[in-house]
Amino acid sequence: TQTILLKNRPEGKPTLSDFEFITEDIKETISSGEMLLETAYVSVDPYLRGRMSDAKSYVPPFELNKPIHSGVVAKVIDSKNDKFSEGDYVSGMLDWKTQQISKGEDLLKVDANKAPLSAYLGILGMTGLTAYCGLTQIGKPQAGETLVVSGAAGAVGSVVGQIGKILGLRVVGIAGTDEKIDMLKSKFGFDAGINYNTTDDMKSAIAEAAPDGVDIYFDNVGGPISDAIFFSINKFARIINCGAISVYNNTELPKGLSVQPFLVKNSALMQGFIVSNYAEKFPEAMKQLSEWLSEGKLTYTETIVDGFDNIPKAFIDLFEGKNKGKMIVKI
Ligand code: NDP
Repeated sequence: TQTILLKNRPEGKPTLSDFEFITEDIKETISSGEMLLETAYVSVDPYLRGRMSDAKSYVPPFELNKPIHSGVVAKVIDSKNDKFSEGDYVSGMLDWKTQQISKGEDLLKVDANKAPLSAYLGILGMTGLTAYCGLTQIGKPQAGETLVVSGAAGAVGSVVGQIGKILGLRVVGIAGTDEKIDMLKSKFGFDAGINYNTTDDMKSAIAEAAPDGVDIYFDNVGGPISDAIFFSINKFARIINCGAISVYNNTELPKGLSVQPFLVKNSALMQGFIVSNYAEKFPEAMKQLSEWLSEGKLTYTETIVDGFDNIPKAFIDLFEGKNKGKMIVKI
């Protein structure tokens, strides 16, 4: 089986030389309780960057010279496990390997007839759950309010914005290209969009796109984009601190706006969000997301990259904004 190891802890932006491809033998017969899996789709996600560093975080770092793992959909090609049969598809955290043996712990069976398999890594997987739980649990949206989403054209952001529209909010998205801004408005129904790469004065652009101020800010990027939004927050605004991709490759702690005066002045709430803390909400979230999908109220887009060899590149490309919607590698 082909395997991808973490070769070096990246300094700054990850490079292809931080990863190593090896070929390993896989044992010929599986034991009772085990199954042989063949990888079908691999999710690459910004949070993996954090696990490549050895700094303490909410998940332990990857070990050097060990396989990297992330969300994967795999096909069961042989099974001595009571819960899974040959031909089933499963999703869960698995190694970056073309084939692997698993005991099936923490894997879920997924139904290829209900949704395309890749959807279980996006809209019906971790990023969909993040969008739903973050917006509803911390954002506490009320119809008529204004929601601003950064990283709006990505996997989480594009779903946050659409849920905002379903719940009756004015939705403003921030993303890095004009093509993405067009997509936010035409495909996902956002009311307004700002291309941060071509906008000199983000503070004014936000004030213009959110004339009644910002009640909810769903923050996927941190850094200067977020700093600009604090000038427009309303009284009792809620800020969901979901991610900060703009600073993940920094080698020094970011310096920026001091947000406390904005929070105090507006009695605003800013809360860090980690999706795994909301597991008790997942059944409700999955039910609602599936319902909205089948009713056509919610849609999604994916950037599917072909080939196991391209996993590291697809991951690095997240930091270049090469994806629209969920970035997935098809094996
Ligand atoms: P995305 O699909 O949004 O992909 C990343 C996007 O980030 C890129 O497409 C790019 O779009 C944008 N980006 C890259 N560099 C920068 C930069 N310097 N400044 C601004 N934008 C940048 O990824 P996800 O939807 O999977 O994740 C979005 C965020 O949510 C991440 O910060 C991630 O870590 C976080 N997250 C947190 C979770 C949690 O439980 N806390 C769970 C899941 C995700 P563009 O062209 O617009 O720049």
